[in-house]
Amino acid sequence: MRRPGDDLERDKPIGDGMLSITAKLGRNVFKLDKEPHIRIDAQICRTVCKKKVCLVVCPADLYELNEKGDVVVNWEGCLECGTCLICCDDRALAWHYPRGQFGVQYRVS
Ligand code: SF4
Repeated sequence: MRRPGDDLERDKPIGDGMLSITAKLGRNVFKLDKEPHIRIDAQICRTVCKKKVCLVVCPADLYELNEKGDVVVNWEGCLECGTCLICCDDRALAWHYPRGQFGVQYRVS
């Protein structure tokens, strides 16, 4: 499972002892539920959606194309910002917050 910040040195300072945004995101903890809280309607995504905005708007970069060219989401690293849901004009996403005690737990320090 890929998570934000996995590809970078997590605690590398960017200057004056501050951490980069990516490094801060890498400190978050994800408690995963069994079921995904984001589902893609593949039929709508394939036949209606032309822009595939989800591929560029997710701050955690969780959307990608699989080998068949279908959009998939690595929901496990979701920051629960809701951007993808707002930007999906064709309503190809079913999105809800993870159940209580699941999902992202932000670490601010
Ligand atoms: Fe990415 Fe935010 Fe959508 Fe989660 S809710 S998949 S972080 S855009």
